[in-house]
Amino acid sequence: MTNRCVWDELVGQRSVADHLAAAVRRGAVSHAYLFVGPAGAGKKSAARALACAILCDDDACGACPACRRVKRGAHPDVHVIAPEGAATYMVGQIRDVIHDVNLAPVEAARKIYIVEAADSFNDSSANAFLKTLEEPPDDVVIILLATTYEAVLPTVSSRCQVVRFRRMTDADALAALAERTGASAEESRAALAATGGVLVRAAEFLGSTARRQARDRMLGILKGLTVSDEHDVLRSARDLLAAVKAPLEEIKALQAEEVRERTEFLGSKGGKALADRHKRQLTAREREGVTEVLNATESWLRDCLMISQGELALVSNIDAADAMEEVAYVLSPGAAATALSAVKRARRRISYNVNPQLAIEAMLFDIQEVLKCPR
Ligand SMILES: [Zn+2]
Repeated sequence: MTNRCVWDELVGQRSVADHLAAAVRRGAVSHAYLFVGPAGAGKKSAARALACAILCDDDACGACPACRRVKRGAHPDVHVIAPEGAATYMVGQIRDVIHDVNLAPVEAARKIYIVEAADSFNDSSANAFLKTLEEPPDDVVIILLATTYEAVLPTVSSRCQVVRFRRMTDADALAALAERTGASAEESRAALAATGGVLVRAAEFLGSTARRQARDRMLGILKGLTVSDEHDVLRSARDLLAAVKAPLEEIKALQAEEVRERTEFLGSKGGKALADRHKRQLTAREREGVTEVLNATESWLRDCLMISQGELALVSNIDAADAMEEVAYVLSPGAAATALSAVKRARRRISYNVNPQLAIEAMLFDIQEVLKCPR
């Protein structure tokens, strides 16, 4: 094969790719899959690859219009579903999905549903979904994604063919990222650290000036933390949140373009669904932006600890390493653990809907206290 097909783009998941590709070629695609593996293992990329393979006329070529639209997330017969409730799928959302499942495909012969966070079904939403999962219409393939098998309700997992994903090795992720983006090893490591090791997000991060700036600002704040007064910390948290929101402008521009394209082809129809999706996209991006600066904080603290232990090869944020030495000099493993628990606390507060700026202010004060008198 001369062309680089969609399966070749999956990193470190050869056996999964072979298994799925063979199923498509034999015409033996299951009606429901459960992809299980840690964040960053490539489950969603594999689900998109499977969607390409099912909808492509040329053996998952990766280059035809159908493949390209699936990869861009713009194919009308490939649907990605994420929980709309704070931490769970609501019955109402699942009923909407079921209704949609039973409609005919828009333009392809089949429809694919990629259902994220399959461990977020509660008993009621799972019950609502079971019949569809067991016997979807013939032209529908449902792919559920989850981080652990055990967290998925047995009533859900028992109705799916389970495909297990291994954690990608650091070396594989770095090599793939460098190949995709042309970034240096140093930039790639920092990007993976900020995005929790998720390859697709790391690639997007490297492509976004505003996202990289938010991360740089966070590391700049940490660097100056020991000499900051209370007023500085409060101003830093405010500026940081502004930096986190800056990348939203990049997304708004893309969305405006999509609205223009849509209007050209369909008149003003489908406007509400599109507007809802765009709103969800912005909320998700903002949440992701906050997570990125927290990831950067965590990796900065780990780096300081690594430097203090002489493990320079394990440092993720090499561009900031100079400034870490002073902190590393006084940071004990115990103090690092205390500072890291402040980051964890901020994550938890934000997941409980505490205002991110307040959560980050509190985190910065806690870390400052540790760095000023590390014991
Ligand atoms: Zn194709």
